[in-house]
Parts: sequence; C-alpha cells; structure tokens
Amino acid sequence: MKENIVIIGGGIAGMETAAQLLDLGYKPIIIEKSDHLGGHVADWNRLFPDMSPAADVVRSLASRVSGANIFLNTEISFINKLKDSYNIMLSNGISIVTRIIVMATGFALFDASKKEEYGYGVYDQVMTNKDLEHWFNTGEDPRINDSAMNAVGFVHCVGSRDEKARNTQCSKVCCITAVKQAIELKQKFPDAMIYCFYMDLRMFGKKYEDFYIGAQRDYGIRFIRGRVSEVSENIDGRVIVKAEDTLSGKPVKATLDLLVLMSGMVCSQDSTKVANMARLPIDTDGFLKSRDNVMDIIESPKEGVFYAGACTGPKTVPETLAEARAAALKVHLFIKGLE
Ligand SMILES: Cc1cc2nc3c(=O)[nH]c(=O)nc-3n(C[C@H](O)[C@H](O)[C@H](O)COP(=O)(O)OP(=O)(O)OC[C@H]3O[C@@H](n4cnc5c(N)ncnc54)[C@H](O)[C@@H]3O)c2cc1C
Ligand code: SF4
Repeated sequence: MKENIVIIGGGIAGMETAAQLLDLGYKPIIIEKSDHLGGHVADWNRLFPDMSPAADVVRSLASRVSGANIFLNTEISFINKLKDSYNIMLSNGISIVTRIIVMATGFALFDASKKEEYGYGVYDQVMTNKDLEHWFNTGEDPRINDSAMNAVGFVHCVGSRDEKARNTQCSKVCCITAVKQAIELKQKFPDAMIYCFYMDLRMFGKKYEDFYIGAQRDYGIRFIRGRVSEVSENIDGRVIVKAEDTLSGKPVKATLDLLVLMSGMVCSQDSTKVANMARLPIDTDGFLKSRDNVMDIIESPKEGVFYAGACTGPKTVPETLAEARAAALKVHLFIKGLE
C-alpha cells in the first residue's frame, strides 16, 4: 500500500509499530537517530521479571522489520505542516510528505550527576543502573573489582519523586530494576552484602512481588526504608552512605564497595525537540501530551499523529509493545477512514 507512514524512533516501540504495519501490508519508514535499532532495550542485559535476555527481544523485532524503510543515524531537521499532511525534512537531505506520524521517541535516563549529594562522576565507586547493565553486558567497568565486592548499595528514586530534581513522578520501573540488579549481583558475588535504600517499594507488575520476596528470602538482600542523606568517600576509595532507617527510627551507616543509583525515566530532549517541530503539546509531567490520558493515550491532539511507548511516560517492555500494537491499529483505521 502506497501511503507514507513515518515512525520517529527505532526503539522497541517504533519497531513493534512497524512490524505490525508490515503485517497489515504497509511499508512504514523508521527514522532512528542512533546507529542501531532497539533503543534503551539494546543496552539492557536481562529483563525483569523473568530474566529473559534483552537481546532476544531486539533480535526478534529486528527480523520482523527488515521489510521497512529504515534510516539510521538520521534526525529530523524540520517538520512543515501542509494542508492535510506534513513535510518532514531529514538530516540526510531527504524530504517525506506524509499524513501519518508515529512518535516513538522514548525516554532519557535522568542525569544522576545533577543529584550532587550522591557523588556520581565525583566518587569513583558510584555508578547508575545503566552503567551496571553495561557491565552485565560487557564485564567491563573499572568500578567493579571481582575480588573486592563485599558490600553494595542501591539508591532508589534518583531524579524521580523529587521536587528539587523537577520530577515529582514515579518512574515505575526502577524499584523492580533494583531488585533484578541486586539479585544478579548476588548471583555473581554470593558473599556480598546488598542493601536497597528506598522510600516506598512499588511492585506493581505481574510477578514483581514474588521477585521482591525472593530477593529477600533466597538472596538475603536487605531493604532499608529511608532516604540516603549523605554519601562521602573513604580514604581507601570506598563510599560511606548515611541514611535513617525510618522503620526502626535508627540511623544507618554503611561502607560500600559500590553504590548504584537508580536513575529515573524522564522525557528526552529529542522527543521535545520533534514535538515542538510538529507543534505537539507537552504534559505537566514533561512527557508528550496525549489527547486523553484515559481513553486516548496513544493519540496526540493532532490528527494523524500517534504515540507509542515511553515518549508519553515511564513504561515497561510489555506495556510499550502493547501500545505499539494499538498505535499500528489506529494508523490502519485512520488510513481506512474509520478513525
Ligand atoms: C535501567 C532500566 C532498566 C529497564 N529494564 C527493563 C526490564 O528489565 N523489563 C522491562 O519490561 N522494562 C525495562 N525497562 C523499560 C524499557 O527500557 C522501556 O520500556 C523501553 O525502552 C521503551 O521503549 P521505547 O521504544 O518507547 O523507548 P526507547 O527505548 O527510549 O527508544 C526510543 C528510540 O527513539 C530514538 N529517538 C529518540 N528521539 C529521536 C529523534 N528525534 N529522531 C530519531 N530517533 C529518535 C532513540 O535513539 C531510541 O532508539 C527499563 C528501564 C530502565 C530505565
Ligand atoms: S519505581 Fe521505585 S525507585 Fe522508581 S521512582 Fe518509583 S518508587 Fe522510586
């Protein structure tokens, strides 16, 4: 079928939308700014709650979108609104006229160095959830010394639920990611003590609670309710963490070989930039604004512009894939004049 359908973002949301549209007989166009498909999931190692390999998800989607027109290393230079369509100019000089845009531009990880009190980028032994996934994938990171991994701490809610960080929203996936990563570290370093410092634990998804209970029962991971008040560095390079255990009312001080910051999900600047070009509104949480947050989360207020995945807020992989399938159906109905 001839209609141009432009999908901006080649993460799992963009890929699944494209795969569904290919099944429906269309030939969608994927515009991806990086040099590979898969978005953030391509950076993850194993996925909660089943520990399935992230690479399998990306590989399976990549095989299903091979029939699409895919532009890698390509950005949107500008978008002009025509009467019933859009003219999209790509950074490679190609211009596409289309009635249909699917925004699948995803999220960005909160920049942990903005929370100076946690010492990311200052103290040697502080890393983020993303850095730890990189180590799970490659085994390479100078902060992790196999022979000196006796105590590790995780700090929840870094850049989320935090007025000072200008993000009062919960990022939804980081509690369960901390549980997953804590288990994985314990599997690699069975003798290490592992602590998770949390304000609330949000185990909202299928099997998440089981995963959390297993982390305590089977792996001895300690969950301490209390915000970390201070992080400093020892003379030997280890980090000292101070917090108040709000359940026991006692102060806690731990000396750790590694501190992992659970950076939250925020709207990416790339999303906002393209949204501004297409005159799409931004919601009060900083993510792209849907037509309606209950009934029409995957529709933008502009006719012919749809959303899929984490560009509208924190989402898990299954939620992202479900939205992408719904977005593809919406596109199909729009083309048929039924939307
Ligand atoms: C630390 C961490 C671990 C996680 N682990 C899990 C897990 O184990 N299980 C699970 O279910 N979920 C997990 N998630 C959530 C998961 O990462 C998201 O559900 C998923 O990445 C959302 O996919 P997406 O395609 O919407 O966005 P993204 O993955 O962000 O992909 C967006 C894509 O769009 C591209 N892009 C952005 N702007 C533009 C532009 N202007 N032009 C062209 N291209 C653009 C980007 O380069 C990127 O490739 C985790 C999240 C975090 C933060
Ligand atoms: S999911 Fe957990 S760690 Fe993440 S912002 Fe929400 S409460 Fe904090």
